[in-house]
Parts: sequence; C-alpha cells; structure tokens
Amino acid sequence: MTSEITDLSAFSNTSKSRETRFSGLSIPINLANFSGIMIAAVILSLWATSLGILLSLDISNLQLLWIIPAIFWQTFLYAGLFITAHDAMHGVVFPTNLRINHLIGAITVILYGLFSYTKLLKKHWLHHRYPATEFDPDYHDRVHKSFFGWYFHFMKGYSNWKQLLGFALLFCLLAGGLHIAKINLILFWIIPSILSSLQLFYFGTFLTHREPKEGYTNEHRTTSNHLSPFWSFITCYHFGYHKEHHEYPHLPWWKLPEVYQK
Ligand SMILES: [Zn+2]
Ligand SMILES: [Zn+2]
Repeated sequence: MTSEITDLSAFSNTSKSRETRFSGLSIPINLANFSGIMIAAVILSLWATSLGILLSLDISNLQLLWIIPAIFWQTFLYAGLFITAHDAMHGVVFPTNLRINHLIGAITVILYGLFSYTKLLKKHWLHHRYPATEFDPDYHDRVHKSFFGWYFHFMKGYSNWKQLLGFALLFCLLAGGLHIAKINLILFWIIPSILSSLQLFYFGTFLTHREPKEGYTNEHRTTSNHLSPFWSFITCYHFGYHKEHHEYPHLPWWKLPEVYQK
C-alpha cells in the first residue's frame, strides 16, 4: 500500500508548494500542520464516544423524539469521518508526516465503511484529474443522471462483496459476541453510515458536479453550494464549497470558507 501511495505523491503535494498555497491565508503553516491532526482527533473521538454511548442505550427507555436527533447526530459524525479521510487523501491531516497522515486516512475509511484507502485515494485522484467526465469514478454513467440513479452508480463503483461480507460478519460479532442489541446496531451504526453516504453524495457530488443548463463554466466542471459558513458546515463540513476545493485541493475543509467566493 505504501509504495502505491508514494506513487501518488504528486496528489499529496510537497511541503514547499503547500506552504505557498497556505501563504495567503491568515494562519501560519506550522499551526495549520497541527490543526489538521487535532481536528481529526476531535472528530474521531466524538464519533467513537457517541457511537459507544448510543450502542449501549436501552432503546425501550428512549422516546422517538430522542432517537431521531441521535441518528442525525451520528450521521453528522460519520460524514466527519469521511471528510477527515478525504483531507488525508490530500495530505492535509498531518502534512509534516505523510505516513501518519495516510495511516489516519486508512483508519478512518475502515471505520467509515470498511473501505480500502488505497483504492479510494486512486479514485479520488481520478476525480480531481478528470472531473465530471467518463474517466471520473464519481460521475454518473450518462444514462442515470437523477439523484438516486447517479447515487446507486456511484455506490456500486465503491462497494464490493468483500465489504458487504465484512459488515455481515461484524454485525454478527457485535450482536452475538458483544451482546449489543441489534436494533441499536441498525439505528446508530448502519442507518447513520448509509445516511451520511447520501449526505456526502448530495452536497459534495450531485449538487456540485451535475451539469448546469448552460453547461459547465470552469475547468473543474463544478460549482459551489451557496450557503453561509454555518449551514455549509452543518450540511457537509464545507465540502459544498466544492469549486474552492477543486481550486485549492490542499486546503483542509475548515479553511474553505476563507476562500469561498460568493
Ligand atoms: Zn469534486
Ligand atoms: Zn478532493
């Protein structure tokens, strides 16, 4: 895995050029280097703690009024896991040590959905190199352009039977071995992970890469969701400032509002 990742080193960029890219922004590069790993640690800790608590709850004592917000909260944290992995793919979770950076990426994609980080890294590189074209693994198949048609095509490209088998085995292990209630696993583990994939796809791919009526107007063949920084964060950790992400792919998610142009 390491050698394949090294082959994609151009995607992760060099520290010198990264420094140049950061230079116009308000924080020094040294602080940016450690901010990424600290933010990733907060997201990972929140996700793990929240999941642990939710899986141990006795559902029969909970009102629906609390279950629904809990599902949405866990969905939001799942999206955060993926956003952290995505930043790792761009080498900005821990820019000073890309080995640790990619290790964090590999851990987060496994926790997110038993994905192979190397495969995701290659596909994401293709997405940035050939956005919204036939070579882009995130783009629709030119037939199914509707939200769900595109979503299923997108998910098919990222899923395989080994992953599904892994999920089935893990479910049995957690329910049978650790005696976690199946309903908790479904409500707080499976449903939030599926909902977050819909969330990420809708705000970060469908809205941002679908072809406008007048056709694409920039080389990245993308647009941004015009939301305030607050709603941009709530909806998808600023992944919706997508034109800016393609223009400045080595900025971490939390710096995108600074370069967002209305
Ligand atoms: Zn994109
Ligand atoms: Zn990207």
